[in-house]
Amino acid sequence: MIIFVRTVFALVILSVLGGGIYLVTMTEKRVPEICYNDFLESLQNKEIEEVHICGNIVTLHDTFGRKASTYAPDIPSLLPLLLKENVRVMGKPDKESPLWNLLYITLPILFILLAWYSIMKKQGGEEDEKDFGKDKAVKINKHGQGITFRDVAGIPEVKEDLLEIIDFLQKPKKYSKLGAITPKGILFQGPPGTGKTLLARAVAGEAGVPFYSISGSDFVEMFVGVGASRVRELFAEAKKNAPCIVFIDEIDAVGGHRASGSTAGGQDERGQTLNALLVEMDGFSSDETVIVLAATNRPDILDPALLRPGRFDRQINILPPDIKGRLEILNVFARKVPLASDVELETIARSTPGFTGAELASLVNEAAIYAARQNKKIVDNSDFEVAKDRIMMGLERKGMVINSEDKKTIAYHEAGHAVLANLLPETDPVHKVSIIPRGRALGHTQQLALDDRHAYSKVYLYSKITTLLGGRAAEDLLLDQQTTFAEDDFEQAGRIVTKMVCRWGMSDTLGHVSYTQSDGGFLGEQMHFNSFSDETARDIDRQVKEVIEQSYAKAIEVLKKEKDFLVNLAEALLVNETLDKEEIDIVYRCARKKGQAKDDPLDSSSGSCPVH
Ligand code: ADP
Ligand code: ZN
Repeated sequence: MIIFVRTVFALVILSVLGGGIYLVTMTEKRVPEICYNDFLESLQNKEIEEVHICGNIVTLHDTFGRKASTYAPDIPSLLPLLLKENVRVMGKPDKESPLWNLLYITLPILFILLAWYSIMKKQGGEEDEKDFGKDKAVKINKHGQGITFRDVAGIPEVKEDLLEIIDFLQKPKKYSKLGAITPKGILFQGPPGTGKTLLARAVAGEAGVPFYSISGSDFVEMFVGVGASRVRELFAEAKKNAPCIVFIDEIDAVGGHRASGSTAGGQDERGQTLNALLVEMDGFSSDETVIVLAATNRPDILDPALLRPGRFDRQINILPPDIKGRLEILNVFARKVPLASDVELETIARSTPGFTGAELASLVNEAAIYAARQNKKIVDNSDFEVAKDRIMMGLERKGMVINSEDKKTIAYHEAGHAVLANLLPETDPVHKVSIIPRGRALGHTQQLALDDRHAYSKVYLYSKITTLLGGRAAEDLLLDQQTTFAEDDFEQAGRIVTKMVCRWGMSDTLGHVSYTQSDGGFLGEQMHFNSFSDETARDIDRQVKEVIEQSYAKAIEVLKKEKDFLVNLAEALLVNETLDKEEIDIVYRCARKKGQAKDDPLDSSSGSCPVH
């Protein structure tokens, strides 16, 4: 289709150009031509008033108002004659110069050639897929562009695993002499941005071997067979340069389970490409040390054929780093940035649970950009706060106009979350609460885990749900209204409760049974329910509703008790818009003092947390 459009486009341009040239030449030719003798005769007869000389072409205007042109073989000798007869002489730049002539002829030809070339280049894929595959797909980066394990932080155990592979690559003979078959394929599984590509490069860099990289989606082309031929190309090249590493990113694009293909044609192409890949991997001889590293974030959809022994039989999980890993990664990137003394990378690591290496890299970069925009010489903590909020919650929507009524609702809503997050047992402490709209949210309460959690207790989950419902509870209690601000809270709370009941066996009546199956995907948050009876379905609904209602009642109870704290916090938010942990603590202490003074006018010492 593209080729057709291009051809039509080229033809249109050509005909316009051709037409233009034709017109220009034709207008010039409309003047009748006379021979030079006749011209000289008219000159002698004083019939010529004016001449235009352009190169050797002389166009004359005679006394009768006629026009004619002639070719003058020798202009220099003609000029004195003209001047003698008082003829007005006008000169024009010489269009007929050799250069002009050349351009005149070659330009259209050049144009035609260019158009033809671009069309042929596009069609080349069909006719000569070998070259086509070669120029687009195979990227050779010698030695992984100097990246080594020093550049990869926070995943020590993975590095450990890969040391063996590096040894295979460096000393293949050591293993082949003993008849050992080195592993052929290693599959990196993990969410995007966790450093899979970086790690593959680092392995090549450490081993000092060539690194070929290609993305699974590069294999899958419109034309059936191209992908398979690219695979063969790639491996032929790699074998020539063994020992080396071939890195296939997004291998799920070719190695996806057949059932997950979308169209019949696409499946055919993918099937062929996958087969070619399997054939190549099976076909290495022991002296060709080509190690195939592949990356995917959807291990669940991979064709089992890929994971058989002799293929990608080693799988390495790369998950987002834990708090220690995040600190190490931050250290790697912060080395390149001048930091102010108030920046505590440890606090940043703590406040970024779930961030991948790529997100941490972008956090440091955003902070540096923000500091530079303010003409600062060093990057300080406030820059990191801004960058973090931006990555986590989207841009501040400064221009958004919120009327005072809504602002009050948002302040009470967020204060409701913050009070509960501050007082309920086992919650993550509040880091910041704000009523500045960001991204989709109109306000937010940010909690900060003390440590990475790997298991969540029932108490923690109940507190989490209660905190989520606290926004609506505060609106209900103090403003006597219900607004749509609670939409996201309900959604989140609902998801947690459903998991508690159906997956984690935390309900009273349904018992310790899991009614769902995990889909195994790193991204897949979807729950697949097992089949169960209508009665169980009703039980699940009842349980979910009960947990939500209990939590909501708890939220109302705590907020009623802590009304002073809630009101003070909301009022402080209306004034300051954003409050950090220390400011929230100050508001809390003030409210306590006030409360105690009310209860017992003699005791003015500050009390401790009432709920713990
Ligand atoms: P993936 O291939 O898993 O999607 P990449 O390897 O492309 O992730 O990572 C993107 C970028 O994130 C890297 O170029 C690097 O700057 C940064 N990064 C990710 N993980 C790490 C890590 N463990 N150590 C250092 N940098 C990392
Ligand atoms: Zn809310």
